[in-house]
Amino acid sequence: MSSVFSDARQRLHTLGQLSGISAAVIESLSRPKATLCTSLSILMDDGSTQYFDAYRCQYSSHLGPCKGGIRFHSNVSQDEIQALALWMTIKCAVVDLPFGGGKGGVNVDPKVLSRMELERLSRAYMRAMADFVGPDKDIPAPDVYTNARIMGWMRDEFEVIKRHKQPAVITGKPVNLGGSLGREEATGRGAFLVTEFLRSKEGKAPEDIRVAIQGFGNAGYNIAKLLFDTGYKIVAISDSKGAIYDAAGLDVDRIKQLKDECRSLDSDYCESSVCESTTYKSISHEELFELDVELLVPAALENAITIKNVKKVKARWITEVANGPISVAADEILFKKGTVIIPDVLANSGGVIVSYFEWVQNKAAYPWSLEEVQLRLQEKLKISFDEMWQYQHQSENTSLRMAAYAKALKKLEQVIKMRGTKEYFSNAEN
Ligand code: GLU
Repeated sequence: MSSVFSDARQRLHTLGQLSGISAAVIESLSRPKATLCTSLSILMDDGSTQYFDAYRCQYSSHLGPCKGGIRFHSNVSQDEIQALALWMTIKCAVVDLPFGGGKGGVNVDPKVLSRMELERLSRAYMRAMADFVGPDKDIPAPDVYTNARIMGWMRDEFEVIKRHKQPAVITGKPVNLGGSLGREEATGRGAFLVTEFLRSKEGKAPEDIRVAIQGFGNAGYNIAKLLFDTGYKIVAISDSKGAIYDAAGLDVDRIKQLKDECRSLDSDYCESSVCESTTYKSISHEELFELDVELLVPAALENAITIKNVKKVKARWITEVANGPISVAADEILFKKGTVIIPDVLANSGGVIVSYFEWVQNKAAYPWSLEEVQLRLQEKLKISFDEMWQYQHQSENTSLRMAAYAKALKKLEQVIKMRGTKEYFSNAEN
């Protein structure tokens, strides 16, 4: 049966084999170390009790404690969380973080909860996971529809249970509760930086790059803003409710302002949509993917580009801000067509990189300046991007995704082999 996790495993097998990774190593990375599945019972404001399925997957701890966000979304399933945790394993290895991969989630539509219900849900999640996670075991963070406030509640709940301070148990916290400066915008900034590295390799001016962005959440907004400020022409933006288009270019600041103005005061989620901005033409979600643009930025959920719509994608470059936005089958078609794709495992790694900085700052009890965070983020991404670029340009018939996976899997392979494999014990290798 097709599933996100089987798709993710298929990619692991194909790219692992192409990079010459041993079968034993690929096999050991084909299954999660542990997944905790539970059901959270939440007292609702009207006095009733509702139940929400919740998960935390610790996929691999070969390179360090597991690391990865928690999402609150009505699509969340064990299958999806395991796929996302596998991708976190690759992502942390690509950018040389001392972390393995993990992911968590709750099957819920958080937009229909009151703020107090949201707090009860967040605390209940941490209560259920308190013995599973920990600063040297598994460190959660924000993901789709979770934010700094939720991380703050979860840190607090963990400390109530453990009866001592443990700021490094979770990252992406509010700055005054041990969060790092620059974490909020880090995913978008990272995606912007790698897009800029690509632009400079290709020698194009920002003004000549028309961009369509799917998703106007934290990451989507931040990359849109940074690209806009640099002079790229943002011609289309969408959110879960619709999309807008203007061939002359959209004003990202204005759209953000309009969206924020409609946010009701007691809500943690924005209730308005980009398409409520009457100045611009509304288009459908499907049309956004078909636009004649230089750069397409999928910044929402998995499988935005599949076999169903891939043939209509005209963009020359794609920066994958979402995790897994292109299915394996669609990816093959785009590769044959020559579309340059900056893969999710590098393109959206800015979030987990600054999470790592936050964890380091918490452990050292020594906060860094914003400049230091931004500089170190840029340094880390530049090294990883150049390695990926070089590998791709030195190998035949290789995509940037293959190059990124090759690097990550070689790193994991070394560590797994050191613990002993058949080849090692049969003396075929030293
Ligand atoms: N949820 C983000 C991701 O998918 C960030 C994870 C983290 O900071 O640990 O990469």
